[in-house]
Amino acid sequence: MSVDTIVLHVMAGTLAGTDAWFSSKKSGVSTHYGIGYNGELHQYVDESDTAYHAGSLVTNRRSIGIEHEGKHPDWPTGYWIPNYQQLAKSHALVVDILQRYRLDASHVFGHGEVANKPTCPGPGLNMMQYKQVVTNMLLQASRPKDSLKDKEATNADSISLVFGIGATTDPMVMEVNLEIRIGNKTYKTNIKDVKFEEEE
Ligand SMILES: [Zn+2]
Repeated sequence: MSVDTIVLHVMAGTLAGTDAWFSSKKSGVSTHYGIGYNGELHQYVDESDTAYHAGSLVTNRRSIGIEHEGKHPDWPTGYWIPNYQQLAKSHALVVDILQRYRLDASHVFGHGEVANKPTCPGPGLNMMQYKQVVTNMLLQASRPKDSLKDKEATNADSISLVFGIGATTDPMVMEVNLEIRIGNKTYKTNIKDVKFEEEE
């Protein structure tokens, strides 16, 4: 069965603890990804393989599971809330998955929405808000990119080019930063390891 669902979880523990738990065959549970408070991303199971995270084989077979480091300090009054880095990585990962499987944000669920599991991920992860952010990111990514070439032709008078050169350990190898400013927009690129040669 192909993937049409993403299920979000809270780990009830640390990323390190989860690494150990999932690598132990005895645990009987698994998930595809884990995200730490520092935004660190660990993968445990290939997306093409079924992970056992959602409590039902039907859901497991069609879903990708993402765990987040954290636990509820005092359920139900104190509960896990993701921090900025963790949430940013989670959004980016989910957007990447949705794009690859050509899905929209309506395919993303909290564990508690697909199983009787109210503590996972709990009210600290606002699913409405989460899906809104993901929808905006998908929309942003699907917009056609500005063509610099066209801009150049129509706004030739307002283009400026900025060079920056960073030294490396080799005196003839440079890191080049290029900035093109057209109107009020700036486009940047960075080219590493550019080797210069002295002209004969
Ligand atoms: Zn869960």
